[in-house]
Amino acid sequence: MRSIPVLTNVLLMPNEHVLGPLARQHLYSSYKRFVDSLKFITNDRQALQVSSIWRNAYKDIYRYWGDGEGLDKFAKRHTLVNYYQPFHTLSFNEIISSSAELRPPSSRVVGYTDNWRFCIDCAIEDVEINATPHFHINHQIPGITQCLKHNTPLKTGCLSCGNEWLNLLKIIMPSSSGVCDKCQGNLLTINSYQDDDTHWLQTTSLQLFEGVYSDINLESVQKAYRKWIGIGSRQGVLNLKERKIVRDAQKHLDNHFSLEFYRLFFTNADLKSKQRRVPVLNLYEAAFNEGKFIHPLVHLVLIRCLFGSVENFVENEMHE
Ligand SMILES: [Zn+2]
Ligand SMILES: [Zn+2]
Repeated sequence: MRSIPVLTNVLLMPNEHVLGPLARQHLYSSYKRFVDSLKFITNDRQALQVSSIWRNAYKDIYRYWGDGEGLDKFAKRHTLVNYYQPFHTLSFNEIISSSAELRPPSSRVVGYTDNWRFCIDCAIEDVEINATPHFHINHQIPGITQCLKHNTPLKTGCLSCGNEWLNLLKIIMPSSSGVCDKCQGNLLTINSYQDDDTHWLQTTSLQLFEGVYSDINLESVQKAYRKWIGIGSRQGVLNLKERKIVRDAQKHLDNHFSLEFYRLFFTNADLKSKQRRVPVLNLYEAAFNEGKFIHPLVHLVLIRCLFGSVENFVENEMHE
């Protein structure tokens, strides 16, 4: 039996990230320490990061805030499972039954994966409607740097006090005034660079989250890369000729987009001369390391470079 239920004025908004209500539960409770204010809800309350694909807290939050729609529908709407699943080694049901925390790979170097983000225009609208802003789930998709509704660059961590906005309980909620709630300093506006490729990548990321590409799977993706490169499946070492083919394809991948594109989506692009453009953008690994879970953003960059669109990629796969 639960002795004290969640506060009745804390709601999960229809488009909110699953962890959002925990921050308000803490804010509106009389407890000073968040471990106390959340103890009725979940034991899994350390490091409330935006990027976890799955963790026990999600199931606990569903128990309190799910509206009886079923855990799978809840997960599709309030978590990033749909975004990660097509490239994951686990099926959707395996992910949402996991009792271990599932983290994305390379999250510190890929497209704001770990930073809580918000749109100031959405925050202003939310205040008008609900009296309080909240973190929208679609702004938390990796690589999303602007609000696709308002076309404005998203904001994240504080420039003055250095709060990077990694842990929800150090932020609580977005600020509709655009300044840091702690120190009143200016919040960081995310790089506003845009071109056709960034636009494609961001709208496709949103479609992934919406489940449009749920029939894609890691095996077919890797097969398509190998077919494009012109070397079939192989477990062993590539010979000299094949290595040159992969090297040339990698060079193509490293120079296909504008420099700003790589720098927008990867925090370590061009950091070391003579290295690849971006260490995680590794065509060999993506194509030949069978069954390896690589960040979806890396796959999307590859699909854009090699096939132009997901539709072309799927077509290429269908007509074997
Ligand atoms: Zn917006
Ligand atoms: Zn601050």
